[in-house]
Amino acid sequence: MDLFEYQARDLFAKHGVPVLAGEVIDTPEAAREVAERLGGKAVVKAQVKTGGRGKAGGVKVASDPEDAVAKAGQILGMDIKGHTVHKVMLAELAPEIASEYYVSFLLDRANRTFLAIASVEGGMEIEEVAATNPAAVAKIPVDAIEGVTPAKAREIVEAAAFPADVADQVTEILQTLWKTFLSEDALLVEVNPLAKVADGRVIALDGKVSLDENADFRQPEHEALVDHAAANPLEAAAKAKGLNYVKLDGEVGIIGNGAGLVMSTLDVVAYAGEGHGNVKPANFLDIGGGASAEVMANGLEIILGDPDVKSVFVNVFGGITACDAVANGIVQALELLKSKGEEVTKPLVVRLDGNNAELGRQILTDADHPLVEQVDTMDGAAERAAELAAK
Ligand code: GDP
Ligand code: MN
Repeated sequence: MDLFEYQARDLFAKHGVPVLAGEVIDTPEAAREVAERLGGKAVVKAQVKTGGRGKAGGVKVASDPEDAVAKAGQILGMDIKGHTVHKVMLAELAPEIASEYYVSFLLDRANRTFLAIASVEGGMEIEEVAATNPAAVAKIPVDAIEGVTPAKAREIVEAAAFPADVADQVTEILQTLWKTFLSEDALLVEVNPLAKVADGRVIALDGKVSLDENADFRQPEHEALVDHAAANPLEAAAKAKGLNYVKLDGEVGIIGNGAGLVMSTLDVVAYAGEGHGNVKPANFLDIGGGASAEVMANGLEIILGDPDVKSVFVNVFGGITACDAVANGIVQALELLKSKGEEVTKPLVVRLDGNNAELGRQILTDADHPLVEQVDTMDGAAERAAELAAK
């Protein structure tokens, strides 16, 4: 999960990385009071989860509270690389910036380690620096057990050739930044610019943090950082029901058991769709091994609630949970939805194979639901579902 700059700023502050005072607002009017609190002058910064805000006009300096209202008005609603600005952060104006540096820690999957990246050429995007002047970007592996000791921090500072007058401060900051990375279970903490200002202090002026959602179970405070407004409503509903669902932009709803089977179902449906006006899968949904009627009903409810869905392909390979149990699940799910007043109006193509396939098919045949049809092969069922979606 990527965080907004203001959230990164809060985490930095919590772990002792030097930052400037800042507050987030979502109306221009609110800027007046905040700017007054910050001493009149303030930097107004668009809060969007993408870089390059400075270049796009999303970072402006306000000279007084009235100006802060005007600048916030200009930035709110702005589009930055496809992201609409709904919030701005007002930050205390930094003393004049003398130098802009870059520091980050990240998970380096390829090398199975953590990595520190540092450069005295910060401010602009680090990818650009790495491309034009790779020697200016130091990359130092960080051992997961040892972490960033004072000696490791020194090593990073020396490798990136930080000037002597800021070396001690940057060494300290690297350790607090590592503390942030470690104790928040982050995948990335990045400061760009890490600025040396006129009075000699080194301050994190911009922060980017990405948290590892796999650690959510031991990070209860991270729930509050989720941007619920941005979440796809279907994905949010699926998550609330504990379903493994990803919204896609096609027309054929997909339900299957097992991630691998669902992935290949997406492929065969996309392939079949090419012959039917390019219809595509509308989602990924894996209901897992033990598909109870309730799980099936929850899955169908999400998929049928998607206005983009024109037909549904239920693709099940019976294993530990045999096809008869799945078939009963489908029948009960349709009844459950009907009793909830959510009667199914979209056609369902069901393919059952594997353990007890015959029995499962018989159960669906006997149930004789007008919108359910069975096709015995995966390719055939994909073809039929695509055809129905194209109608
Ligand atoms: P980004 O363009 O999205 O990475 O946004 P940044 O927060 O890095 O801002 C871009 C540039 O604006 C920085 O490199 C700084 O030069 C400048 N900037 C950011 N914060 C401040 C601040 O508090 N005071 C001043 N004077 N300049 C700032
Ligand atoms: Mn930046």
